[in-house]
Amino acid sequence: MTEKKPVIVVHGGAGTWQPERSQPGLEGVKRAAKTGFEILRKGGSAVDSVMEAVAVMEDDGAFNAGYGSTLNIEKQVEMEASIMNGKTLQAGAASLLKDIKNPVRLAKIVMEKTDHILVVGEGAEKLAKIFNLERRSPMTELRLKYHEQQKKILLEGKFELPKLYNLVKNHPEFFELETVGAVALDKDGNVAAATSTGGFPLKLPGRIGDSPLIGCGTYADNQAGACSATGVGEIAIRLVLAKTVCNFIEDGKTAQEAVESAISLVNKRITATYNSMGLIAVDAHGRIGAAHNSPNMCWAYLTPEIKEPVASLTAKIVK
Ligand code: ASP
Repeated sequence: MTEKKPVIVVHGGAGTWQPERSQPGLEGVKRAAKTGFEILRKGGSAVDSVMEAVAVMEDDGAFNAGYGSTLNIEKQVEMEASIMNGKTLQAGAASLLKDIKNPVRLAKIVMEKTDHILVVGEGAEKLAKIFNLERRSPMTELRLKYHEQQKKILLEGKFELPKLYNLVKNHPEFFELETVGAVALDKDGNVAAATSTGGFPLKLPGRIGDSPLIGCGTYADNQAGACSATGVGEIAIRLVLAKTVCNFIEDGKTAQEAVESAISLVNKRITATYNSMGLIAVDAHGRIGAAHNSPNMCWAYLTPEIKEPVASLTAKIVK
């Protein structure tokens, strides 16, 4: 079999990236792309590549994943992550995690060491203990400050909790999403995807978003490609968005056409709620895709043709 040219694409979340946060975000996605690509360059697997790329962003502090995760309405962190292997269609995910340093590593353990796909809360914590996963408090000063600001606006009474999205719509500056994800193609022609998040700011305790749900926030299938989503999780869940992107690729679209079509679909079908979405993808031919309807999406990619990762705060904006 002829070797494929390895490719990695990573994102650090859709939303509005404030100028003062932009540089750390861009540096973070570049570091992640480099780490993931180095694994591919040495002949490593797409699964290892996306896991390590996501772990770099979980450790960074600039993103809403791992260290630096956003806080829920009760000022608690509940992290979640998933990973999928496009060769075997094996997948793993974990959610409602309080202090696992790298949720994506636990997702991979669920995928490879258990018969299950999604393990949450106490059970997930037990599994992490069995496999000696590192712990770290994910709380940062920055997220605590954001939490105070977000809650203040909420308590001013202009918005009610079930209408959190209206709050976000009116104050996007306080609701940077910043979930992280990665997709890759390795030399053997296998694709993989991974996503990790602290979830939506001010979410209710126990809320599970798209990021740990296979098909919604993460999907990978060698017959199509791989996709990681960011944005309002409830939208990605309704449209099974990552799988939809892979279906579009399987139907003959390139990765770029597929992510643009999926964002168009979001725009057409989801009109009654705050709508801010971003997608990255790679197809089985190694073509990459990135599109969003939010003002920004922090992302980067690296291929053998270029020496350094290319990073940007915008990709194709589909309105
Ligand atoms: N999709 C994530 C969630 O809804 C948020 C994000 O992408 O930043 O939990």
